[in-house]
Amino acid sequence: MPTTTTLSRPVDFFTTRPLPYALDALAPQISAETMKYHYEKHLTTYFTNLSNLIFDTPFATMTLVEIVLKSDGGIFNNAAQAWNHEFFFDALSPTPKIEPSGGLKLAIERDFGSLPSFKEQFSKAAISLFGSGWAWLAMSQGGKLSIVAESNAGNPLRRGLTPMLTIDVWEHAYYIDYRNRRADYLAAIWDRIDWRKVEERYNYK
Ligand code: MN
Repeated sequence: MPTTTTLSRPVDFFTTRPLPYALDALAPQISAETMKYHYEKHLTTYFTNLSNLIFDTPFATMTLVEIVLKSDGGIFNNAAQAWNHEFFFDALSPTPKIEPSGGLKLAIERDFGSLPSFKEQFSKAAISLFGSGWAWLAMSQGGKLSIVAESNAGNPLRRGLTPMLTIDVWEHAYYIDYRNRRADYLAAIWDRIDWRKVEERYNYK
């Protein structure tokens, strides 16, 4: 295998970004041990696998989101898992804004009735998702918000929707802290969701 070609990036091109907070900063809702495994082991492995899989392929010149949109199979699984995790971790905070305001608040009230109703519907979708996957708040091109449950590495970008928020419901996201109690994890994690970040995404036009 050549070390570099015009089509290839070094195998470590896609690397895990530093988290915007310390590994223990999200406790007690998410423990340092969970974050250490989730961020340092799981996410790093997806990036390492992706870098190896795309070496010397046309995907090596694409951005991560382009790969998510255009790939299938193992490349899609690892690219989407990498993208989804960064998006998930970016909207968690030790000092979150605990509810949305402005246009996002109005859109949530329009499409779900109220913030508590939205959280209830979102949590229900996340809890009832069979097996591994992700629950999403996504927006259509027309600006309508919806809750989307995706199995495995699924991402609403593939449906033409713009992701606003996601919660990881793979067992590795909660098993250390909550064992099999996914509902307890969902009930707790809202206290770590930073609506400031979701507003940034919503207001980005
Ligand atoms: Mn995960």
